[in-house]
Amino acid sequence: KENNQFKIQQSRMQLPIYGEEQTIMETINEHSVVIICGETGSGKTTQIPQFLYEAGYGNPENNPGIIGITQPRRVAAVSMSKRVAQELSLSEQEVSYQIRYDATTSPKTIIKFMTDGVLLRELANDFLLSKYSIIIIDEAHERNLNTDILIGVVSRVIRLRKELSEEDKLKKIMPLKIIIMSATLRVSDFTENRALFDVPPPVAIHFNKRTPHIDYITEAYKKICKIHTRLPHGGILVFLTGQNEISILCKKLSKKFPKLKNNNNNKEKEEDNLNEDKDMNNYNKDNFEVDKLDMDEDNQEEKEEEEEEKEESDNNFDTDSEEELSSDNEFDEFNEYNREIAPLHVLPLYSLLPTRAQLRVFESPPEGTRLCVIATNVAETSITIPGIKYVIDCGKIKTRKYDINTGIQLFEITWTSKASADQRAGRAGRTSSGHCYRLYSSAIYNDQFIQFSIPEINQIPIEGIILQMKSMNIDNVINFPFPTPPDRNQLRKAEMMLKYLGRIMSTFPIIPRYSKMLIIGQQYDCLPYIIAIVSAISELSEIQNKEIYLKERRKLIKKKFYEVQKKHVGLDPTSDLMKLLNVVGAYEYAGCTEKFCKENFVRIKAMQEIHKLRGQLTNIVNINCPDINICVDPKMKPPSKIQLKALQQIIVAGFIDQVAIRKDLIDNTTTSSTTTTTTTSYTSNNKTRNVAYQTMWSGDDVFIHPSSIISHYEKLPNFVVYQELYKSSNSSSNNCITIAEP
Ligand code: ADP
Ligand code: MG
Repeated sequence: KENNQFKIQQSRMQLPIYGEEQTIMETINEHSVVIICGETGSGKTTQIPQFLYEAGYGNPENNPGIIGITQPRRVAAVSMSKRVAQELSLSEQEVSYQIRYDATTSPKTIIKFMTDGVLLRELANDFLLSKYSIIIIDEAHERNLNTDILIGVVSRVIRLRKELSEEDKLKKIMPLKIIIMSATLRVSDFTENRALFDVPPPVAIHFNKRTPHIDYITEAYKKICKIHTRLPHGGILVFLTGQNEISILCKKLSKKFPKLKNNNNNKEKEEDNLNEDKDMNNYNKDNFEVDKLDMDEDNQEEKEEEEEEKEESDNNFDTDSEEELSSDNEFDEFNEYNREIAPLHVLPLYSLLPTRAQLRVFESPPEGTRLCVIATNVAETSITIPGIKYVIDCGKIKTRKYDINTGIQLFEITWTSKASADQRAGRAGRTSSGHCYRLYSSAIYNDQFIQFSIPEINQIPIEGIILQMKSMNIDNVINFPFPTPPDRNQLRKAEMMLKYLGRIMSTFPIIPRYSKMLIIGQQYDCLPYIIAIVSAISELSEIQNKEIYLKERRKLIKKKFYEVQKKHVGLDPTSDLMKLLNVVGAYEYAGCTEKFCKENFVRIKAMQEIHKLRGQLTNIVNINCPDINICVDPKMKPPSKIQLKALQQIIVAGFIDQVAIRKDLIDNTTTSSTTTTTTTSYTSNNKTRNVAYQTMWSGDDVFIHPSSIISHYEKLPNFVVYQELYKSSNSSSNNCITIAEP
């Protein structure tokens, strides 16, 4: 153990930040706000909290109040708290973390890592952040909405705490300090701080000569094979855009470079079964994504051919070809390395992966294998995966985009920014020189990559921002010190509109469409059902326990899975939300047990959260409308026929902007409006995914997502209300798919 500590101390001393402790601490002591910029890996996240701890922050005698550090991602909060606890030889309670569903905090906590969402929620209850002596906002360069709001709010908290501490004769209230940490030097004022840090080890950047014809997953796959079979040892980190792409690539790689035989025999067998498991296709998003990629390919190929022509003419005196050559040389140089090919230790990493699975990337790979992490931009800055020497960057990023007119959310895959591509490249130069293979040409990088990613606050509908801030008790949104302020006039207009929509709505900690459903939910005594549905929608993505679901599937007890699914669609076979309501009701009826969750393939944490939210919403309704007097009834009866009808109407009212009509009906109605339209029966199976709907506001062609129960129903309804649109990668195509949740 002592040896271990010695090693840790030695590696601490080698961090660029280590020699700057005195300067940094002096600066922090003299100022209430300090901005620290340094390359990823220079030691900001792990060392600054320790400097503070050693300087007496968090010490009840000296400087009481927890040292709080926010992270945009759960996995970073957990792994960083563990690392710092280890470096300081303190317990998990003293250096703790708090994420949405999990915490190690205790009264002994001195340093606390948390997601920014956690701190925002704390702010709603304790605007003075009285528990804390100092707040570190990490990864500020990412410009998440949460981080931006946090910086704005905390700047006010500082003022308040300062005033109160000056008034406080007993010296119980201390001023709050804040440190903002950033990996990129977005603001030119910070530039001089760069001198704080050493130059990181060099990373050779290899651009593709051409941006690949085929999809970048295949391109990444080829590159991994090349590196693994020809280049010296060293971990590989691949950046893709999302969970489905990652799963596809992981499967492909595990097949090509199987894991060590003895301990993984079973797994392989299971995998085979998995492939034979045809009729699960409808339930399986991954398979669906493959189809979607196929669908896109034609389109994409055309586009890329154009691009390429342009590139080639652009690149007459290009540096690309040299770079590409040099990279090929490099591959050749180590050809003699081509001994027996080692197994590849392939690990996925994305934020929806259970935290425990995410943490596996920090473990050293089994002896004799090479680590290969396939990640989203989770791995871009906040965490450091040990041993990475090669980075492969597809150059893309999946972002949530909003249609300005309808407010509809879309996921779009676009080129990332130069800053983010450079961050990704930097992940290769951690311990020694590294290599970054970019799956796109330097022409694309230069011409099509924006300098920095656009702050989230400038991308999302303004009403949402205002409501979120109001619910945090920030009254004056117009004058709020946003790091990048939205247009004042628009803010003003949106605020007026929202006021008009009613004060009661803002008392619910949920977005307006759900508040609206609650407000009109009292008809036919539907309110308890609406509360249950609304509580569940917000947890929708978390509910289904895919882990168990996959495992069970492998055990080939899918029949049971189907039975469970069927049981829950009893209320209304065309509504995902009624199924959800049934699950919530049944869970409560069964006494909220773990057993229920296991048997019904749902995640207990999500169910507990729903239970909590139900209670909360019920209380708010009771406080605002004392004459209603409802409760969370564990023996809630299923809704009656008339209530079902009312529920449908209430749901439509909440999603009035997200209705789609079956496309064939549009043509029918124009020919004859008098004849009754015969309901065309489409058989389900594969055909349903070919039946187009048209969204009412934007007129896009969309299709039912196979995860919706509608896709299993014999007849496709004339109208659907949907919760989410997934847009396929290129914005030019019309291949939208709906999850027809309600
Ligand atoms: P920054 O926040 O500036 O990006 P970090 O403080 O996260 O830097 O990391 C500093 C260094 O600490 C990394 O370069 C890495 O070598 C080391 N480190 C961080 N976490 C771990 C860990 N879990 N195990 C081993 N080393 C780690
Ligand atoms: Mg960091």
